[in-house]
Amino acid sequence: MSRLNCTVSASNDNNICLYFMIKTFRIYNNYSLDEAIKYSRKKGLSLHVVLIEPYEENKRNLDFFNRLTEDLHEKLSIYAEKVVRIKRPIDFNKLLVNVNSFFIDKTYLRFDLNIYEDLKRNSYNSNINLFTVESNVFVPVVEASNKEEYSARTIRNKISSRLDDYKSEVLTKEDFTIAEKKAFDVLEDFVSNKLEKYDLHNDPSLDLTSLLSPYLKYGFISPVTIYNKIIDIDSENKESFLEELIVRRELAYNFVYFNSRYDNFSYMTYDWAYNTMSRHKMDKREYIYTKEDYINFRTHDPYFNAAMKEMVLLGRIHSYMRMYWCKKIIEWSESYEKAFELALELNNYFFLDGLTPNGYCGVAWCFGKHDRAWTERAIFGKLRYMNDNGLKRKFDIDKYVEKMNNI
Ligand SMILES: Cc1cc2nc3c(=O)[nH]c(=O)nc-3n(C[C@H](O)[C@H](O)[C@H](O)COP(=O)(O)OP(=O)(O)OC[C@H]3O[C@@H](n4cnc5c(N)ncnc54)[C@H](O)[C@@H]3O)c2cc1C
Repeated sequence: MSRLNCTVSASNDNNICLYFMIKTFRIYNNYSLDEAIKYSRKKGLSLHVVLIEPYEENKRNLDFFNRLTEDLHEKLSIYAEKVVRIKRPIDFNKLLVNVNSFFIDKTYLRFDLNIYEDLKRNSYNSNINLFTVESNVFVPVVEASNKEEYSARTIRNKISSRLDDYKSEVLTKEDFTIAEKKAFDVLEDFVSNKLEKYDLHNDPSLDLTSLLSPYLKYGFISPVTIYNKIIDIDSENKESFLEELIVRRELAYNFVYFNSRYDNFSYMTYDWAYNTMSRHKMDKREYIYTKEDYINFRTHDPYFNAAMKEMVLLGRIHSYMRMYWCKKIIEWSESYEKAFELALELNNYFFLDGLTPNGYCGVAWCFGKHDRAWTERAIFGKLRYMNDNGLKRKFDIDKYVEKMNNI
């Protein structure tokens, strides 16, 4: 029962313990930093930290990250003798000198896994210990399950039964960084003003979701911190929020971990979904739109255009509208493959919380992943269908449109 895993075991007389901070840009409840501190003290090693700038396709995201991590270097200096910040690609040669042991946050997506694989190769070749620490999920992915799970139903109990094993906290809140303070403020705001009404969170005209996803993405806050803050509150909505934060989020990590082709149209979803798409691939599409139509808000659908405004101008889309948004891209594309590629491209470029397992999983979900077959209809076949009548029936959707028109 541990977040720590030794990937390369070596023996050398070097005296540096070097922690690669690649996913967990925080101090409080940073399990990797905690393990690296404990290990370096036990072995009498000097602790160094290397901050690896995140992979981003959009400068707005990098600016957000840089703004919030301005003081991280300084705060880490309380724990580490040396802190350096580096950009990708990484030149490992400079980082191997005198190193006894490496620590790295566990990573999941290809652009980070490539760095991890390089580090592993260098550790073997240079006889350096390598430890990975699972810092950004509640229950380590391989502890929760040893296979790709079919749906939330199949993984729910495997995760919830392990929460007590992994809910302990480490390090201190005294040295909160700018990013941690901001993430904590967002959490406080959610707890004080939104949790009581979270049963209405699907309504895009109301702002009742937590907005924590960008902070979780960069590891500015741990899901454990959020859970411990919420678990003792007397609220009927607690469970549904924790279902999203822990079960749904960690199902996404399970997906990308056990399915290395998570971003490949031909491998991301189920046979029933491929079969139904294959039967409907020649169905007539009434509208075909391009990326330029989408990002210039030029479709016939005011709800979709409003969602695109939220995406392009604010870097997010309300959670319910993300489903509608992706379903419409499926409906208005020449092929399912093109729809999948474009949805991922927009998702990962525009969302502040893009380039995460949740994004790949959310898009795959629209193609049947973790979902079930529904009543057959044109273009979608048995994939779940969404239309604007649903939005009008359930919500004050024009209020959402008005809000987005006034950004
Ligand atoms: C097509 C599509 C694309 C998506 N792309 C992304 C993405 O790029 N990045 C991203 O973080 N999420 C994505 N999601 C999942 C979800 O929509 C967002 O996590 C959520 O809208 C973030 O807002 P919030 O933090 O206010 O959510 P809240 O409702 O406050 O939920 C709290 C946390 O739970 C997690 N969560 C909530 N819903 C889901 C879900 N369905 N799957 C997995 N985790 C969830 C998130 O970490 C979120 O921050 C996508 C969903 C769909 C259908």
